Amino acid sequence: MKRQLLLCLLTGFSLASFGQKDKPDLTVVKKIREEGLNRSKVMETAFYLTDVNGPRLQGPGFMKAANWSKNKLTEWGLQNARLEPWGEWGKGWEIERSYIAMTAPYYKTLIAVPRAWSGGTDKLQQAEILYIDESDTTALEGYRDKLKNKVILIHQPFAISPSFNPDARRFTAEDLAKMEKDDSAPRDSSYRSLIQAMRTRNAFNQKMRKLAKQGGALAILNTSQLSKDGTLFVSGDFANAASGTAHDDLADLTISVEDYLSLSRLAKAGVPVKLELDVKTRFFTTDTKGYNVIAEIPGSDPKLKEEVVMLGAHLDSWHAATGATDNAAGCSVMMEAVRILKTLGLKPRRTIRIALWSGEEQGLHGSKNYVAKHFIDPNTRKFTKEGEQLAAYFNVDNGTGKIRGIYLQNNTAAGPIFAQWLEPFHDLGATTIAPKSSGGTDHVSFDRVGLAGFGFIQDGIEYSTRTHHTNMDTYDHLIADDLKQASTIVASFVYNAAMRDQKIPLKKETAESGR
Ligand SMILES: [Zn+2]
Repeated sequence: MKRQLLLCLLTGFSLASFGQKDKPDLTVVKKIREEGLNRSKVMETAFYLTDVNGPRLQGPGFMKAANWSKNKLTEWGLQNARLEPWGEWGKGWEIERSYIAMTAPYYKTLIAVPRAWSGGTDKLQQAEILYIDESDTTALEGYRDKLKNKVILIHQPFAISPSFNPDARRFTAEDLAKMEKDDSAPRDSSYRSLIQAMRTRNAFNQKMRKLAKQGGALAILNTSQLSKDGTLFVSGDFANAASGTAHDDLADLTISVEDYLSLSRLAKAGVPVKLELDVKTRFFTTDTKGYNVIAEIPGSDPKLKEEVVMLGAHLDSWHAATGATDNAAGCSVMMEAVRILKTLGLKPRRTIRIALWSGEEQGLHGSKNYVAKHFIDPNTRKFTKEGEQLAAYFNVDNGTGKIRGIYLQNNTAAGPIFAQWLEPFHDLGATTIAPKSSGGTDHVSFDRVGLAGFGFIQDGIEYSTRTHHTNMDTYDHLIADDLKQASTIVASFVYNAAMRDQKIPLKKETAESGR
């Protein structure tokens, strides 16, 4: 009875807390808008992270950008800017040279990028193709003696067709209305079967690469149905990065699907094909640890300054381009958000902490390890004091598109709060509260242990067609106005979260506590 009364009181309290007092301070919003929309530095930051720095693959490319960001955040007046190690990662890797062409039946350069952690060819080499028309691993054994000095090409069952859809897209009013009603879990059965198909293909590829290496092959070529029209989707075999494993000497190149299918047709028809290639890659073993960039705007309220509002994005990228939309965009937005708050001299009650993660592309390593180290007691599996003090985490990692709203991760109690925080930005296209979870990036590291972690809804633009993990993910695919809008909204959200009397409610707490 007593407990029920307590629950009622607490619930009443929490309902009241979603009322009038979550209206943002409009004087501050106005200032944030002026700084974020009219005096933005977001594209300057993006320029340094992409054009100047180059690719930010886990290793030296990432470290260069991490140091630049740390220094920039310090220059803007943030405190405790540092590179915080999160644990053992493995080897760094870079391409030093990469060239491949067909020399017979005629000369033609191929559109190609080595996969990350690929080996090289030692020097410029001439080679014939070995075309393998098999899809099961046992049949591969039959090729063991034919591999020496060959470039391996495995039959691909697909063809390509022209696309009649535009590359770039924004959410329509109907799309957004649907999202407001959709509270489905993020991983459905089609996702699971996709993952299963990917695992089977990876197992085959791993076996093929091992065999090719043992048999003295010179290189292996691969492609995907999406890698057309000059856009290559390239990732890498990060098993080769593990400390202690031998460097993989086999050159492993992604080439355009048009080149791939052309070589396959020639090989199948028995037309003699010759290739020449020169690939040089480098592994780095001096520092095999992974690092996150961390910096803070200290809180000003004696009672609340120990509590922390975090914002973050992953700074590491794949290597075929400069990772502009994945995720220099998100990092530039987050850095810009704290720059805006710092420049305006606002005094947040809670501490605001920015994190630029690494190892995201290989499995959310930076954020996952940060959460484990800071927020979860390894023995009890409960929140540490620091975990209790985390008020909220906000993430941006869906490309260059402007913010259209926020995903609740099924945290319904956060909905009415965020709805009020979005109100002053309806005119900029940010209106939608989507109950469902979004996945695939660093807020998941927070959400899955029960912390309040959120990602924003962003217009897709060309993310899935052109830029995400491709050789076209470059500065010119960024949209300045969208990034300015996103920085402004993130700055306002983070400020509101730092000023609110209570922390953002947690999912498990929403029913019975006043948080
Ligand atoms: Zn990303």
